[in-house]
Amino acid sequence: MCSSSRKTTHIFREEDPMAKRYWDEKFELMSEANMKAFQLEKLKETVRWSYDKVPYYKQAFDEKGVKPSDLQKLEDLAKFPFTVKTALRDNYPFGLCAVPVSELVRIHASSGTTGKPITGPYTADDMDQWTECMARALWAQELRPESIAQNAYGMGLFTGGLGFLQGAIRVGAAVVPAGAGMTERQLLLIQDFGTTALFSTPSYCMTIIEKAERSGLDLKKTKLRTGHFGAEPWTVEMRKEIEARSGIHAYECYGLTELMGPGVSFSCEAYKIHINEDHIYPEIVDFQTLEPVPLGQEGELVLTSLQRQAMPMIRYRTRDICTLRRDKCECGRTLITMDKILGRTDDMMIIGGVNVFPSQVESVLMEFAEIEPLYQIRLRKKGYLDAMMVETEVKPEVYSAGQAKVEDLAKKVSGRIQQVIGINVPVTIVAPNTIARSEGKAKRIIDER
Ligand code: ADP
Ligand code: ZN
Repeated sequence: MCSSSRKTTHIFREEDPMAKRYWDEKFELMSEANMKAFQLEKLKETVRWSYDKVPYYKQAFDEKGVKPSDLQKLEDLAKFPFTVKTALRDNYPFGLCAVPVSELVRIHASSGTTGKPITGPYTADDMDQWTECMARALWAQELRPESIAQNAYGMGLFTGGLGFLQGAIRVGAAVVPAGAGMTERQLLLIQDFGTTALFSTPSYCMTIIEKAERSGLDLKKTKLRTGHFGAEPWTVEMRKEIEARSGIHAYECYGLTELMGPGVSFSCEAYKIHINEDHIYPEIVDFQTLEPVPLGQEGELVLTSLQRQAMPMIRYRTRDICTLRRDKCECGRTLITMDKILGRTDDMMIIGGVNVFPSQVESVLMEFAEIEPLYQIRLRKKGYLDAMMVETEVKPEVYSAGQAKVEDLAKKVSGRIQQVIGINVPVTIVAPNTIARSEGKAKRIIDER
């Protein structure tokens, strides 16, 4: 028996693994009615589990005057309290755990760039579910046992790196745990190992593409075919830029530490982002009134875990702005879809009374072929008001064409921002290599207020 067939029998649950189109047909193709019935059953268990096992939830439910038994239909979830990031911080590290530490098998934490970090604890069952969610995503994104997957997410406390790693292992791909950074070495590995799939943030992929171009390596001539990108907002325009310059199909993965990590949702070949809604129940609320908004309308994404043991999450306010849709998808999956994340409410700027997200600026910048996808937004105080400035790099040959041309281009970009977003923003074109290259989550906003 050769080792590959041994590996296959261990990993796959079906007779002919290569023939299957979906990783988990039962859930990926489930009818809406059956999915809703499944979700209701799991939701009932989750509110009960949270109330009985986590004093924080008991108190929050009591204060709101709701009991687990009040959840009789899916819509009843709206009566339950939201959970916000400060609840996780205040209960750091294990205050929201529903199981004793002896039952945990993994503990992650988010970067904690602002204040204390938050914890992501898992039981063995949680780990298995998370791995399944990731395997489902990566399988939909063409990862197969013969793939060589270069994992360029930071591999540490951050859920991204290990989440992708274990999903790819379950699919049976060969994973190269490259980690983030050392871009020259990434390029070497892509060539030497014949990497077919890249896992990274979209901004780090841009850094890799730039390095490849500068060193005369045409990524289209390598075996690289797919990219699996997430952890930060990025626009459709950025996706197209990545695809055009590297020849890969750029897929999306979305997730957050509070709800297991990556694997909450994933894009399929039709670029629709499907939520693993048998594990995570999504709602959209108006981020000011917190009232539920209907499908097809933009708002804050609120997520509830349906099967997690260690840290059940009830109505977690993600602060991510997006839209849910139940359109038919050509990939055949019936899982509900979400639009690309427009941005985080934390990153929303109010300029001249207009709400602006960095992604809107990115969309406009990317319309210009002369501009490199490298930009930052500087925020300053102007009297009582916030002022915003955009700094961007352009192609080196454009920059060296002379100051008059560069200034002319900057004016054109500024005019286009005014036209599309409706705000007057000065644009500065900075010298090549001025803006910091990202290896993880790109820092788009420099707040000098
Ligand atoms: P944090 O960045 O808050 O320290 P995480 O590492 O858990 O914590 O990151 C989760 C956040 O990253 C999400 O809430 C979202 O804002 C962002 N994110 C993750 N994946 C995507 C994606 N595919 N598109 C847009 N934003 C994403
Ligand atoms: Zn689809």
